[in-house]
Amino acid sequence: MMRAFIGLGSNLAEPQQQLCSALDAMGAMPQTRLLRHSSFYRSAPVGPGEQPDYINAVAELETGLAPLELLDKLQAIEAAHGRERHIRWGARTLDLDILLLDSRRIDEPRLQVPHPRIAERNFVLIPLAELEPHLRLPNGDTLEDLIRQCPPNRLEKT
Ligand code: ATP
Ligand code: MG
Ligand code: MG
Repeated sequence: MMRAFIGLGSNLAEPQQQLCSALDAMGAMPQTRLLRHSSFYRSAPVGPGEQPDYINAVAELETGLAPLELLDKLQAIEAAHGRERHIRWGARTLDLDILLLDSRRIDEPRLQVPHPRIAERNFVLIPLAELEPHLRLPNGDTLEDLIRQCPPNRLEKT
């Protein structure tokens, strides 16, 4: 079994409901249990053009799926929630990113873990810290240090 932290984000079509439904769907994946999730946060969009605010959260799962199987299942959940990929970092109904898988490091074309942009995203770091304040990344960085160094971006609990 592997412990996984998943970053959830949505800024289209009732974002809070997208996240609630995604949490249920992740808990229903084979060989997987949803252990906990953070509060929901509202964040300013980072990306091209005008976009609505995002709702973000982080979930903690326990899973027996292999990393790429987990990615496949998460992408199927995104697709079932009407996720379309047009513009990179454009508005979306649902984004499910694998943030961490135990202390593993993966660098494959389809999957990099830890997620390569964790350190620059307070909408990931802050909810993650709510679940695991003393977390350390595989490279030894502490969440506390990353939060101190993260570029500021509007973020509030919903
Ligand atoms: P970002 O990765 O900057 O958060 P994004 O989430 O909008 O951007 P997506 O369109 O959701 O990007 O995913 C693009 C590709 O990223 C996916 O097809 C997937 O193969 C790849 N990918 C690489 N590492 C990860 C990861 N840790 N979690 C999810 N997808 C990943
Ligand atoms: Mg993402
Ligand atoms: Mg993604």
